[in-house]
Amino acid sequence: MEAAEFCVLCGATDRPLVEGVCASCAADRTVLVSACRQGSVTICPHCAAREVRGHWERAGASRVLTAEDLAPFLEIHPEVGVRRTQWDEVAATANQRELVGRFHVAFRGVLRDVEIPLTVRIVSHSCPDCSRKSGRYYTAILQLRGPADDRGEKAPALRARLDRIWTELVREARADWRNALSWREELPEGWDCYFTETLPARSFAKFAKQRYGIPMKESASLFGRKNGQEVYRVTFCLRFPRDRDGSAARAEDSR
Ligand SMILES: [Zn+2]
Ligand SMILES: [Zn+2]
Repeated sequence: MEAAEFCVLCGATDRPLVEGVCASCAADRTVLVSACRQGSVTICPHCAAREVRGHWERAGASRVLTAEDLAPFLEIHPEVGVRRTQWDEVAATANQRELVGRFHVAFRGVLRDVEIPLTVRIVSHSCPDCSRKSGRYYTAILQLRGPADDRGEKAPALRARLDRIWTELVREARADWRNALSWREELPEGWDCYFTETLPARSFAKFAKQRYGIPMKESASLFGRKNGQEVYRVTFCLRFPRDRDGSAARAEDSR
């Protein structure tokens, strides 16, 4: 007579066995998912970009920790397939988050729900883009001006008009152009908009030029040397005649 194969733990005879143990018993005795250590996530306090393995990504993301932030802290058993993940924040202080991860997993054909607590320290650190911006670093200026030959427009009216144009341009601009925009200064003759990168500033200026059908003047000045290379700051001057804005604004109002 042949001995019946049975699970050495629960005695079940109707299940496939691995080393004498059925999948259900093996799942009960195996750490399916664990958090390997107390994690920390470095977030830029200005733009919420994350520092991941020495570089910065996801500027403009939510400050709420996501599965993407927390995945590096998990250890998943090689035979486990994660079907569903959910993270819930159960407590938060300024620089710490207490979370519970809920995982629906499959292990050797058996389904299990696993809950894991995780504490994550939040490290606030300005990303290079934001530090450059706060240090008033710039490589390009976009100048918003009235026409050179128009002396009739008062400075406050001119600035208000250019401000409306600028708001419209920023709204229509691509996100990467906007990201390079650092700060803006009010001047009697208009506005100076400072950019931390020249290429997005040039794209922005060209876009404004086409959008309003106006000339754009580009000039460069040497401001230093870096790694033996001459470094230039570039100025883009855009002159907006009075009537164009007036008619554009009216056309929009009448809609
Ligand atoms: Zn068993
Ligand atoms: Zn930042």
